[in-house]
Amino acid sequence: MKTVTVNIVTPDGPVYENEVTMVIAKTAAGDIGVLAGHVPMVAPLKISAVKLNKADGKTDVVTVSGGFVEVRPDKISILASSAELAENIDVARAKEAQKRAEARLQQKQSDIDTKRAEAALARAVNRIKVQEGNI
Ligand code: ATP
Repeated sequence: MKTVTVNIVTPDGPVYENEVTMVIAKTAAGDIGVLAGHVPMVAPLKISAVKLNKADGKTDVVTVSGGFVEVRPDKISILASSAELAENIDVARAKEAQKRAEARLQQKQSDIDTKRAEAALARAVNRIKVQEGNI
């Protein structure tokens, strides 16, 4: 099967670079599966997991907190505000973040703070689900 180069980059630096056979990602408009040779496109990503199928039959999973995917026929680039390879997720940290976000959502607060807490909760839950293999 043909492969395509994938790069996942955050403001802190590169998180993932590999040759893969397919990238499965959740965009704002729905799930996509991208193979080598795909027509160019750009789409915003949800707080979600990106699955990277490899030629050896294994799959890598990377959590992304928003960002964009840019598809070109020979290269797929993902730029996210944060991203973690599943095996590098600190689940205790994510559970703490989940507790903090839930506590903030219990308090009466401004719309901006609510939106922030909801986003923090979504990041934490996404990391916990992926780390526990529930993707
Ligand atoms: P926290 O409140 O625990 O910092 P957060 O969702 O606010 O979580 P981010 O701002 O998305 O964190 O990310 C900041 C940095 O910390 C990024 O480099 C991100 O990859 C890393 N990071 C955040 N949470 C985890 C985690 N549970 N395991 C591993 N790395 C994490």
